Amino acid sequence: MPTLVMKFGGTSVATVDRIRRAAKRVGVEVAKGYDVIVIVSAMSGKTNELVGWVQETSPLYDAREYDAVVSSGENITAGLMALILQEMDVPARSWQGWQVPLKTTSAHSAARIEEIPTENISAKFAEGMKVAVVAGFQGVSEEGRITTLGRGGSDTTAVAFAAAFEAERCDIYTDVDGVYTTDPRISDKARKLDKIAFEEMLELASLGAKVLQTRSVELAMRYKVKLRVLSSFEEQTDTSGTLVCDEEEIVESNVVSGVAYSRDEAKLTLISVADRPGIAAAIFGPLSDAGVNVDMIVQNISEEGRTDMTFSCPTDQVGRAEVAMNKAKEDGIINFHALDADTDVAKISVVGIGMRSHTGVAAKMFKALSDEGVNIKVITTSEIKVSVLVDRKYMELAVQALHDVFELEKIA
Ligand code: ADP
Ligand code: ASP
Ligand code: MG
Repeated sequence: MPTLVMKFGGTSVATVDRIRRAAKRVGVEVAKGYDVIVIVSAMSGKTNELVGWVQETSPLYDAREYDAVVSSGENITAGLMALILQEMDVPARSWQGWQVPLKTTSAHSAARIEEIPTENISAKFAEGMKVAVVAGFQGVSEEGRITTLGRGGSDTTAVAFAAAFEAERCDIYTDVDGVYTTDPRISDKARKLDKIAFEEMLELASLGAKVLQTRSVELAMRYKVKLRVLSSFEEQTDTSGTLVCDEEEIVESNVVSGVAYSRDEAKLTLISVADRPGIAAAIFGPLSDAGVNVDMIVQNISEEGRTDMTFSCPTDQVGRAEVAMNKAKEDGIINFHALDADTDVAKISVVGIGMRSHTGVAAKMFKALSDEGVNIKVITTSEIKVSVLVDRKYMELAVQALHDVFELEKIA
């Protein structure tokens, strides 16, 4: 039997009624002759509630117990989905990560999938089971502890199952009907893309478009999984939604395909550090050891042997960064006059594979922002993207201005 993977996100399983609606979609695919692997998220809001409870216990909680608690939302939806399918006379069984077992690294709350043995589930399919409902987001470490894959991780569970079972397709059902030129919640001019290249989706996801977890796109690209994003609230045809695919499958690539934003960014500046060989290593080594995810870095022109070093990181890591820098100063590893933290910034990025062969995208972007009176604080570029940091209060304005200037409403 051909295998199909169907993933339902939090809003798609938010109530028993919605699980029933999702189960009907699953029933349609079973009737076509597929063995279906359904990956479920927790009911929407559940994971946040669980995270909140853990944080209430202690600021220095044990990461293993965090995973034990936070993974539990998916257990509920997996069991409920299996029950509803059985009620519909579809032979179904639920699986928690450890039962598969979905083996991961021991990096709690950010574990990576190492292996998905297919024997257990395949044996059940051979016995006549039609649907394996698997709890997304969770796995088990070599030490036998429950792990989670990072927020949004059920997407990655889904793609990894599609790769392991050589599924015909991996369908990600969510609360929007595909991947848009920007977040449809922020701009009503956003347009749905029929297709998007893996590379573009990878950039959009890593730059803040949470419609797919970054790691899921990486896996789909590596294992050539046919990945589709579609709505769980609308009737579907075989061409609904957005297909994430190889660049070659897209006849005409856009110079800019999308605008992404990331709200919770912070900009830190070490004022007046000695400009000498090894200074970057002396700063970013301790930051990395402290688990700070540094994104953009700018070293300013030095005057009289001293310079300012600016970098960005997620807002919730600012405290950790400050502690690490002050400690490095106390230990005599670095010397700076002050550490300035600006926690009210957002990152806006434009992404498109056509940028490889077109010049002028960055200039057009900067002009559009300046026409709106938006000041750019930091800039970074890569082959297919340009990102800027701006004051958070301008975030939506900046997204809309860029969506307009690159005429993205005309794309589809
Ligand atoms: P799920 O719970 O189904 O995993 P998510 O909330 O994680 O859903 O992801 C879907 C959301 O992603 C949408 O509701 C939308 O607001 C957001 N989003 C951000 N950027 C985009 C984009 N470019 N295209 C579509 N959705 C986007
Ligand atoms: N429930 C988890 C989260 O909210 C995983 C997911 O939904 O993908 O992050
Ligand atoms: Mg998600």
